[in-house]
Amino acid sequence: MKHALGIDIGGTKIALGVVAENGSIQANTTLPTDSRLGFKSAVQRMGQAARMLFQSSGTPVTNLAGIGVGCTGPVNPLTGVVDNPHTLPGWDGCNLIDALSAEFNLPTWLENDADVAAYGEYHFGAGEKADRLVMLTFGTGVGGAAVLKGEIYRGAGGGHPELGHLPVTNDGPLCYCGRKGCVESFASGPAIASAASEMGFNSVDAVFAAETDNVSASKVLMDARDAIAAATWSILHGFLPDRIVFGGGLVDAHPAFFVDAARAAISRARLLDTTAVSVAPARLGNLAGLVGAARWAIDQ
Ligand SMILES: [Zn+2]
Repeated sequence: MKHALGIDIGGTKIALGVVAENGSIQANTTLPTDSRLGFKSAVQRMGQAARMLFQSSGTPVTNLAGIGVGCTGPVNPLTGVVDNPHTLPGWDGCNLIDALSAEFNLPTWLENDADVAAYGEYHFGAGEKADRLVMLTFGTGVGGAAVLKGEIYRGAGGGHPELGHLPVTNDGPLCYCGRKGCVESFASGPAIASAASEMGFNSVDAVFAAETDNVSASKVLMDARDAIAAATWSILHGFLPDRIVFGGGLVDAHPAFFVDAARAAISRARLLDTTAVSVAPARLGNLAGLVGAARWAIDQ
């Protein structure tokens, strides 16, 4: 069976693992991203951590099919260049493909982290090899990705579409993307936390805990639910996917909230035959990116 090194790079931590073609993780670890220490330091630390994984999993580097990297974007999968001053300050313009392929002398592929997470769910999780899969992730932001007939969908110039900025209303807070009313402005962790704090709640969890018997909590969550429903409506009518998967930290904590909002929206559709459309919470949790990145490398 083929193996690859999967790496999932986020703003706070980097997950690495030796992963088999069937999705089983032979060995894995995480380290702090600390991007401000510089790109060279991060590559060195990833190199050290990976060599320990090769040892502990009994997989010599020469037996690996390659390296798959999912990285918080924007990244350019065609060139390998990272362009993300927001969550990876200090790495702007650095080339992950060049650096990692030189470190291990292995073919290396780079993708947006949402794309490899969707690819992981497609092969080993809630995607279940759906021909047209759209995944939305709710956490610090709202991300999205599509896998079409087993291939990660890319936009013009290899770019990654930003489904978190689907508009769900014409007003609301001004988003950093340039317009008001994005789904991310209502249903991300910080968006819910901010609306909750205006109502006197000190956390997202406190709002969810109070939803059934507190009018303010139910109002905050109604706005988030409406946003999820509107985004689902746009995705349904724009793509008519077989499967919509919801993932990310917020969904892991409150799966029914997201899935029920989406299913209710789909049940109201009149124009489309939605019998083949299903919605599911992600199954791989925070390992989706790691596993998906490795499998992407094996499949190339
Ligand atoms: Zn936006």
